Amino acid sequence: MTENAEYIKSISNLLVARYPNGARAYIRTYGCQQNVSDGEKMKGFALQMGYTLTDSADDADFVLYNTCAVRENAEDRVFGNLGALKHNKEKNPGMIIAICGCMVQQEHIAQKIKQSYPHVDLIFGTHLLGEFPRLVFEVLSNAKRVLDLSEQQTDIPENLPVKREGTLKAWIPIMYGCDNFCTYCIVPYVRGREKSRKSEHIVKEFTELVHQGYKEITLLGQNVNSYGKGLEENITFPQLLDKLATIPGDFRIRFMTSHPKDATHELIDVMQKHDKICKHFHLPVQCGSDEILKRMNRHYDTTQYLELIDYARSKMPDISFTSDIIVGFPGETRKDFEGTLELIKRVEYDSLYTFIYSPRVGTIAASMPDPISAQEKSAWFRELLDVQNKIGPKRLKKYEGNTYRVLVESKAKEDGCVTGRTDTNMVVNIPGGEELIGQFVTVKIKHARNCALDGELVIGAAGK
Ligand code: SF4
Repeated sequence: MTENAEYIKSISNLLVARYPNGARAYIRTYGCQQNVSDGEKMKGFALQMGYTLTDSADDADFVLYNTCAVRENAEDRVFGNLGALKHNKEKNPGMIIAICGCMVQQEHIAQKIKQSYPHVDLIFGTHLLGEFPRLVFEVLSNAKRVLDLSEQQTDIPENLPVKREGTLKAWIPIMYGCDNFCTYCIVPYVRGREKSRKSEHIVKEFTELVHQGYKEITLLGQNVNSYGKGLEENITFPQLLDKLATIPGDFRIRFMTSHPKDATHELIDVMQKHDKICKHFHLPVQCGSDEILKRMNRHYDTTQYLELIDYARSKMPDISFTSDIIVGFPGETRKDFEGTLELIKRVEYDSLYTFIYSPRVGTIAASMPDPISAQEKSAWFRELLDVQNKIGPKRLKKYEGNTYRVLVESKAKEDGCVTGRTDTNMVVNIPGGEELIGQFVTVKIKHARNCALDGELVIGAAGK
């Protein structure tokens, strides 16, 4: 029996004794898909331990917040929720309150929680996912607080239990960590150095998901393009993608997140080669000023970035691009910002994830001079949204009259309609019943609204 299996068995015995009517766990994840994927594994462990999952902290005997550190407001929300749990503990003294993830991997945050939130029993970092049963057992059996931010893991733990959110779309992390140290980003400090999973484990997990009927599988990594670095086997991300796309079955593949400095023509060629690879490329540019890109330590300039965009469009004219933009990086001038406006007009993204710069303790940019006022940054931010809000609908218009292959995901808000996405990740509403959910259907687009498309089913024809 594995060590984890031993801990899990002991925990379930303790729970049966402590909660004869059953114990409930509430696991809440904040942040990116990688965190969601970690959360699915901790839910898998909780079920094996004998907890049932609840979606309310108020009737839980075990509460776990799986946190994010990318922006300050995410952290503030967690502190607020942690504070509120003090009352739950007064009503249910035997309950366990735990917190993990990127936010607490920051030593100063972990110490703050240890000192200021005595009702929190367990604080553990991002490198201890595979040791979750040991940590819970220590708290449950010794009734003592545990704080563990160690990074002693060598290999990525495999074959962890997973309680996936749905039965249609699934996430597969292919690597963890990041070596890029963009000057504004906390991720390398909280997620550690890049580690890739062996491709045999990824192919096995992927094939199992296809056999279980999953229709859309997203490959995850902070920088999927550097997949394979440090592995004994000589494999790159385009080669892994090529391998997965040849697996038999009716599914499609997405991937995120790509770093432009490592995105290659080979990757774009593999995307073009396989219909199963979605023609959507999320390629965070962050800024349209070469001077600022240098100070962000992004290792590409706008010329290199636009060359990638143009190459991809020469191979796949209908490819969809989305990106991340940071407005108000320390020292950014009006001229730099106008560079960003010019770039988004040049690329014409289908949509953008836009943020006002948020200083993160411990990052290089946090100590850079930052003369531009918050008001001015907000004004630039609104200006950027105004520009993008004209581009998005214009891009959507191009879908009208064409037919597309759509994966139907759920009931739509409108009665008698269902909703799904094209492989370019556009939302489509279609008249039709719930029996269509989980199917790939062909849809003719009738009308483009601001952020979604209206279409009708086309029986017997193949769409784009
Ligand atoms: S590539 Fe840059 S922005 Fe992305 S996770 Fe790594 S350090 Fe952060």
